[in-house]
Amino acid sequence: MKLNTLQDLLVEELQDIYDAENQILKALPKMAKAASAPQLQQAFEQHLEQSRVHVTRLDQVFQQLGTKSKGKSCKAMQGLITEGEEMIKEKADPAVRDAGLIAAAQRVEHYEMAAYGCARTYARQLGQPQVASLLQQTLDEEGMTDKKLTQLAESLINLEAERAA
Ligand code: FE
Ligand code: FE
Repeated sequence: MKLNTLQDLLVEELQDIYDAENQILKALPKMAKAASAPQLQQAFEQHLEQSRVHVTRLDQVFQQLGTKSKGKSCKAMQGLITEGEEMIKEKADPAVRDAGLIAAAQRVEHYEMAAYGCARTYARQLGQPQVASLLQQTLDEEGMTDKKLTQLAESLINLEAERAA
């Protein structure tokens, strides 16, 4: 695809996020299964449900922009998920692994926050307030997930990891 306009770039960025979200839908059940703390399992399962909504919102965004929903292989997300899978396979104390899973998941959230933030800004600048608002909703949810993971890490998991050491 040729990038002649900011609108072209917006669509290209959205295709990257669309692929990234679909990769996340496959990875989160594995992360939930690998987590030991029930609160962490629950957090991953909740974010799986949210991520399904994120994909639906992207479908709405593509529709509003008059293009088909399409993914474009997101190599960064492949790498981040590979790192998460390495953590799952690692021989680790369960609490320490939980801390590592949180670290991997927060990298994923930050990537998504950067992607949604850029796309939201382009949509605003292109005079597409409805698209911008859909992207902002998802951006807010990614941010809340990130904060929740930080709280989980602080409140229980890192403490347990210290105790195990
Ligand atoms: Fe997402
Ligand atoms: Fe996310």
